[in-house]
Amino acid sequence: MENSKEMRSWLDNMGLDHPLVIAGPCSAETEEQVLGIAHSLKDTDVNYYRAGIWKPRTRPGNFEGVGALGLKWLQKVKEETGLKTATEVANRAHVELALEHDIDLLWIGARSTVSPFIVQEIADALEGTDKVVLIKNPVNPDLSLWLGAVERLHTANIKNLGVIHRGFSTYEKTKYRNIPEWQLAIDLQTRFPDLPIISDPSHITGNRDMIFDVSQTALDLNFDGLMIETHHDPDNAWSDAAQQITPNRLVQVMKDLKIRKETDSEAEYNSKLSNLRTQIDIFDHQLIETLGKRMKISDGIGALKKQKNVAVLQSTRWNQILGAMILEGESKGLSEEFVLKMFKAIHQESINHQEKIINA
Ligand code: PEP
Ligand code: MN
Repeated sequence: MENSKEMRSWLDNMGLDHPLVIAGPCSAETEEQVLGIAHSLKDTDVNYYRAGIWKPRTRPGNFEGVGALGLKWLQKVKEETGLKTATEVANRAHVELALEHDIDLLWIGARSTVSPFIVQEIADALEGTDKVVLIKNPVNPDLSLWLGAVERLHTANIKNLGVIHRGFSTYEKTKYRNIPEWQLAIDLQTRFPDLPIISDPSHITGNRDMIFDVSQTALDLNFDGLMIETHHDPDNAWSDAAQQITPNRLVQVMKDLKIRKETDSEAEYNSKLSNLRTQIDIFDHQLIETLGKRMKISDGIGALKKQKNVAVLQSTRWNQILGAMILEGESKGLSEEFVLKMFKAIHQESINHQEKIINA
């Protein structure tokens, strides 16, 4: 994958003055729905019209897609609106049908990227194609697995490639449907700076109210585009109802997003600065999150000590922690003074928490 510049020529050749936009419903439901939404998106920034035809559902019994019939509707979309079309493929049969119906962009879903067998089958079926192929991150936060899928497609001589960051599954309850783990996407960009990377705020958030903020973060991190699920009646969508937005809302989101262009050195400076600041913000949020979790554990220790009537402060344990953290801090370029100050503050907060519990 040495020459990743070639992979992005499909995107560069479009000559867009805004991020690439892929929009359309989570699922194709009926011909009227598919065509209706497409017509609403016709004269907007949308570059590719998406609709899932085969839907990978977590539990059986949910709507699993209209199947190959929907490909005919997508062909009609192209004829009537001129929009290019996009759908998810998950096996050789899907690929063959999608190519027969001249779908312009195929994506591999998060549940497929986890399986090298499936990815290889899709790569073999697509061998040498000039269609655009985008690979969603695997559901688990594993950069090698994601890159491995890109490599399999690249090796199958598929030149027009890119990735979609759709967040990662977690057992923990968070405000996201799939946590973004931005650092992982940043690591991927650092390794392959020319590989187009698209954000999918719909599957990251699972919630239409958060689409704008996540889209802005993605653009601040120099993502090349957005895939946003769009439906004319989101609440009654047959899949992913909570996260879809209307075509009107999509137009508004695209208007409000700050799109940072690197047109001159001043702009380049600002764009780099805002990229770095966005990374800092992500880490600061993580710090607070981690400290909050640490204090919850402290509360648990407080409750235990209360049961056994043990004193809050055990100084040997505390000195051990401090010594180990000073050493570890040193290895990360942090001064002893800073580590001491920080851990004293954390320790104090922890004692306050435990005191509260013991004396409750
Ligand atoms: C989708 O795009 O509708 C979809 C199923 O996405 P993912 O593979 O990211 O879950
Ligand atoms: Mn969906």
